Amino acid sequence: MSGRWEPGSPEARQAEGAGIFCLPVPTPFLVGPVNLYLIDDDPLTLVDTGPNSGLSAEALVDGLAALGRRVDDIGRIVLTHQHMDHIGLAGVLARRSGAEVVAIEGLAECLGSYTEWMAADDAFAERVMARHGIPDDVRLALQAVSSSFRGWGAPVQVDRLLAGESSLEFAGRTLEVFVRPGHSPSDTVFLDRDAGILLGGDHLLADVSSNPLIARRLEWGLPGSAPDEALERPHQLEIYLDSLAQTEAMEGIELVLGGHGPAFRDYRALIAERRALHERRAGKIRGLLEEGPATAHGIAERMWGNVAVTQAYLTLSEVLGHLDLLIAEGAVITEEDDGVVRFACA
Ligand SMILES: [Zn+2]
Repeated sequence: MSGRWEPGSPEARQAEGAGIFCLPVPTPFLVGPVNLYLIDDDPLTLVDTGPNSGLSAEALVDGLAALGRRVDDIGRIVLTHQHMDHIGLAGVLARRSGAEVVAIEGLAECLGSYTEWMAADDAFAERVMARHGIPDDVRLALQAVSSSFRGWGAPVQVDRLLAGESSLEFAGRTLEVFVRPGHSPSDTVFLDRDAGILLGGDHLLADVSSNPLIARRLEWGLPGSAPDEALERPHQLEIYLDSLAQTEAMEGIELVLGGHGPAFRDYRALIAERRALHERRAGKIRGLLEEGPATAHGIAERMWGNVAVTQAYLTLSEVLGHLDLLIAEGAVITEEDDGVVRFACA
C-alpha cells in the first residue's frame, strides 16, 4: 500500500506556490487513491481524472469546491497515461465542462476506442499468459476479474494531440512534454521548468515500484490493424529502464508530483533504488534457473509463492522483463515445447 499525498508538507506548499494543487480521489485498486492535479492558470487545467466512479467524482467535486472551483470551470484536461484510475472520468468531465482533452497521439487513439482497446489488451495478455505457463483456470479467473474492472475506464475523445517532445502553453507557464513509456505504453511526463516541477504520472513513484506491465504497443494502433502483433511481445522492463535513464539525465527538476503517494525531490536516488531492486531480482531469477529450466510463471511462483490470482499477470510481466534482459546479456536461453516457453541458463 502506498503512502499518501501530504497536505501542508513543504513539497505540497511548493507546488501550491506554483499554482499546482493536488486533489487525491479514491480508487478501487490496491494502489489506493490517485493524485489529480489542478493547475491554476489559464486555461484552468486538470491533470488526470480518477476512475469512472461516483465516489471519485464526488471527491473531485469536493476537492474543487475547497479551492473555490467547479467542474464547469475546467478548461483543459491533460492525461498522463492509459490506466483507468487516471482517465476514467475524462469523458464525463469534458462533456460537463466543455474542457479540451489533451494527450499524446498514441494515447488518443487508445482512449478513442477504449473498450475495443481493453478487449484487445486482454486477448493479448491471454496469449502471453498461455505461452508462459499460466494455467487455464487462473487465466479464466483473471479474465473475469479484468472484465469486471473494465467499467472503471471509459472511452474519451481527445481534442488536442501532443507530439513526443513538444510543449503545452498556458497564459502563465509552459509545460514541456516528454514520453516515458514502460509502466504503460503511453506514460507521459510534463515539466514546468520555471517552477522546477515535474508532473510524473506513474512513471516514477515515491514508495511503490511502477510495474512495467506488458501491454499492446501503441504503434500497433487500433485492434485488428496489426495481424502480426501476436508474434511480438514488447520488452517492457527494457523500455521502462530506458525511460528511467532519460528522466535521470533531465536537469532542473526540484520536485516530482506523482500519480500516487507523496511528492518527492531526489528522483535520481529513487531511480538508483529502482535499478538496484531490478538488479537484485534479475540475480535471484538467474539463481532459480540454475536449479533447472522453468516457465516464466514457474519462476514467478518460486519467487513470490502462490500470489493472488489478480497479481499473476503483474508478476509474470515482472519476471518476463528480467528474462528479456538476461537473454540480451547472453545469460539465459529459451526452449519452446508445444507453444509453451521455458527458460534455462545459457
Ligand atoms: Zn495509477
